[in-house]
Order: sequence, then structure tokens, then C-alpha cells
Amino acid sequence: MALKTAKEYLDSMKKLVPRVYIGGKWVKNLLDHPVTRSMVMANSMMYALAEDPAHKEVMVATSHLTGEPINRNLNVARNIHDLDMRQEMALLTSQTVGTCNYRCVGCDALNSLAATTWEMDRDLKTKYNETFNKWLAYAQANDLAVSGGITDAKGDRKKRPSQQDDIDTFLHLVEKRPDGIVVRGIKVSQSGAIGSHETLVLPGGALREGEEAFALAFAVQNSAPGLTYICQYNAYSAEREMFGDDEAELGNPIYGQRETSTMVFDNVFIPWERVFHCGETKYSGRIVTRFAKAHRMNCGGACKVGFADLIIGGTMLAAEYIGVEKVAHIQEKIVDMVRFSETSHACAIAAAMRGREEPKGSGVYLPDDLFGNAAKLNIAHGFYEIIKNAGDIGGGLVVCMPRQKDLEDPEVGPMLKKAFAAAAPADKRMKVAKFLQHWSAGLHGPGTWHGAGAPQTQRFMFTVLTDFDAKKKMAKKLMGMKD
Ligand SMILES: Cc1cc2nc3c(=O)[nH]c(=O)nc-3n(C[C@H](O)[C@H](O)[C@H](O)COP(=O)(O)OP(=O)(O)OC[C@H]3O[C@@H](n4cnc5c(N)ncnc54)[C@H](O)[C@@H]3O)c2cc1C
Repeated sequence: MALKTAKEYLDSMKKLVPRVYIGGKWVKNLLDHPVTRSMVMANSMMYALAEDPAHKEVMVATSHLTGEPINRNLNVARNIHDLDMRQEMALLTSQTVGTCNYRCVGCDALNSLAATTWEMDRDLKTKYNETFNKWLAYAQANDLAVSGGITDAKGDRKKRPSQQDDIDTFLHLVEKRPDGIVVRGIKVSQSGAIGSHETLVLPGGALREGEEAFALAFAVQNSAPGLTYICQYNAYSAEREMFGDDEAELGNPIYGQRETSTMVFDNVFIPWERVFHCGETKYSGRIVTRFAKAHRMNCGGACKVGFADLIIGGTMLAAEYIGVEKVAHIQEKIVDMVRFSETSHACAIAAAMRGREEPKGSGVYLPDDLFGNAAKLNIAHGFYEIIKNAGDIGGGLVVCMPRQKDLEDPEVGPMLKKAFAAAAPADKRMKVAKFLQHWSAGLHGPGTWHGAGAPQTQRFMFTVLTDFDAKKKMAKKLMGMKD
């Protein structure tokens, strides 16, 4: 069985017993708490989309290990078409759930590991690629939801991992045993790890000689002894706790916000069959860079474009509901929203089309780095413009609205209906205002800014990847300047 149904995924979640803490409570069953349930429901849709014949080309791939159909979230890209379908998957899933495909980071992590374990085995005569492929075949056969753990807590950003006052701010090796390793430390902002069967853990950044303890990549099973997930908690979490899944009161009623947790590893044992990198510092940076190559194309140039499609749709409805949809400056703002999102998508498509085998001989295809970074940097800035325009066209109602339920109150309901009816009745206007509030007055701005790396890292990559000398030479040649 290489493809699970959404129901099978949901059933598998009922059997998990992760140590999950959210807003002052320990959660026994992920489906019982309204916030953790929203995360699990979004993941279930990743299975449902793969069941739908209309989305088969995007959501289903063929395993290069077994030849079986697999969910694309577990696929290693073997050609340009795979890369293109990967970014299309990010677009489709965002358009469908309006939150994370929580299998996305894991997918990009496994592509990086496929490439780099192959390279380590070639250079160092290790057996990491064989170990990784065995784990991947198992993950594919059971259609596991896999999240990706890269971001360490990091402590004082001026200091190297081993110089931190508390070394646990970086995930590190505690002990090597004959049967496996023991690890300790903290990974933060982990999208959907609570509702994933496994998390692929990678190093948080490039490492130097002497930093071998931090050079780790492995797969950890959900509910492994010693592992605790402390969920994010904010005004939107409180709102969801207050309203449950009440469609009337929530901006994204079923799938909610992007849910992350802090993953605390307290001497967690990882058997060697799940360890893919242990101590080879020279390769840690490559694992991270290859992950980032894939992730910036997908997270920046496709996932957020799917969000933008939803925001643009909602904003157009808001304009129609107050009768300004034909006004010139409104149309101009809508066009700007499309410009920001489609140029990012164009960068993702270009990153896929210019993708190449890396390393040569590995059979693994990764997107073009420059275009992937352009996709992410462009949307980081563009997204704020998009939500600015949504707030502009949505009007003050986006943040000043009362509860939707108040429309039914015998006393204030008639007043509200009078106040907010325009070219459409008050309930429609308020519904759309709540939707735009969810996008423009909440967590999505900083979420888009930082997800797949703070923009300064993409700016840095531009300085590394751009051949500035070639550009100077071109200019000099045209001017007739001799050196
Ligand atoms: C919604 C969301 C989902 C996420 N999901 C995941 C996930 O599933 N898995 C995962 O591993 N991570 C995930 N992340 C984490 C994401 O990759 C990080 O937020 C991002 O890399 C930035 O790291 P940080 O949050 O620690 O910010 P910081 O690194 O603290 O950055 C804050 C500021 O300090 C600057 N800065 C930091 N260090 C330095 C330095 N050494 N020199 C100069 N400037 C510096 C940055 O440029 C930035 O301006 C997610 C983040 C978000 C917001």
C-alpha cells in the first residue's frame, strides 16, 4: 500500500501519543483539541488530494526505488518535470487549505538528503545513502507524513554552537552507542511536526571542523521517548479554542493558521538505521544549502502564491460587496497583487526549468539556486504589499468588525445589518472581512517573511551566486573600455 487515504491518515493519528503541550494544557489526542485538529485536518487533505484523479499528475509520483505510485511529498526529484510538479503541488495545496502543506519541509529535506548521502558515500565510503534509501522506501510504502526540522533555537546569534552558554540551543550528539545515537537540543518553529509520523532532522547551518557534535541528520519517530512538542500559542489559538470549528467566526474555519511547535529533544535515542549524517562537518552546509534550494522555490515561489490567490479572491469579493470593483485605483491595486504573486511564481517555474542533477551522477535534481532565492525574496516583500492592498480594499471592517453571530442577536442584529449592508448583505461583507483579517491582520506577514529563511540569507545568496565581474566586463566592452 503506497498511497494512504485521508481516512487512513486520520486513523493513524488517533494511535499516536506525542507529548504535546499547548496554551497551558497537555493534549492527549490531537483530534480533540481545536488547534491541533486544524493542523491534522490540513495534513489529511494532502492525502485526499492524492486520491483525487483531477490532481493525480501533481500529487502522485513514481518511486525511483520501487516503481510504485507514491505521494509526491515523498518523492525524490529525478528530472525537470518532477521539479515542476513539486512547485505546482505547493501552489495547489496552499490554494486548497490556505495553510501549510505540513509535509512540504520534509519533502525538501529528503531531496537534500538523497543528494548529500549519495555524495558522502562516494567521497567517504560511508553507507548513508543505502541507509537513507531503506528508510525512504519504508516511508513511501507506508505513505508517512514527514515534517522537516532544521531551525535550531540558536541562542546568541554572534556565537558558534559550541560557544553558547547553553549548548542545548543547538541539537547535538550526546552519545554514540553500538545500536544508535543519543541526541539532545531544541528545534524551533516546526511546522506540523505534532501531526507527522516522522520528522527528518537536518543540521541548522554550515559547520566547521571541531563542531562534529552538531553535524547530524536523522529521522525521528513521532512520540519517541524524550521528545516534547510545545505548540505556538497566540490570539488566533485562543480564538479557535473559544469558537471550536465554528465556520461563522473563523477566518479559515477548518484548516486554521500555520501551526508550529518547539521540539525539545531530551536525550532521544535514534537507531543507526535512521541516522544519515553524523560528524562529517564538511557536508553539513551542503545538506542545508540543498534543502534551501528546494524549499525557497516551493515555499517562496509557489506556496505563498497559492495564499495570494486566496487573498486576491477575497479582496475582489470585498470590493464587489461595497460596489467599488470597477473603480480605477481598486483595479490597479488588484493588478499589483497579481504582479507580486505571479512574478514569484514565474521565479519558481524558472527555478524548476533550470534545475539540474546535483551532484552529477546522483540522479537527484535540484532547482536553480538564483531563481529559487529570487522567488523567496520577491514574495517576502510582495506578500506585505498584497496584504496591504487587501487591508486597503477591505476597509476598516477588516479589523473593526463585531462577531458574525451578533447579526443574529435580536437587539443588536438589526442595527448591524443596517450598518454593514452595502452592495451585498451584511453577513457576506462580514464573512469576507473575517477572511481578510485572518490573512492581513494576523500571523501571515512575518510567517511569509521568515519561512524558508530570513530574507537577509537570500540577499547574501545573491551576492554569492551573481557573477558581478561578468556584468562589469559586459558594460566595459560596450563602452569600449580597455582594462
Ligand atoms: C510560519 C513558520 C513556519 C516555519 N516552519 C519551519 C519548519 O517546518 N522547520 C524548520 O526547521 N523551520 C521552520 N521555520 C523557521 C524558519 O526557517 C526561521 O524562522 C528562519 O530561518 C529565521 O530564523 P529565526 O526565526 O531563528 O530568526 P533569527 O535567525 O533570529 O532572525 C531574526 C533576525 O536576525 C537576523 N540574524 C540572525 N542571525 C544573524 C547573524 N548571525 N548575522 C546577522 N543577522 C542575523 C536575521 O536576518 C533576522 O533579521 C518556520 C518559520 C515560520 C515563521
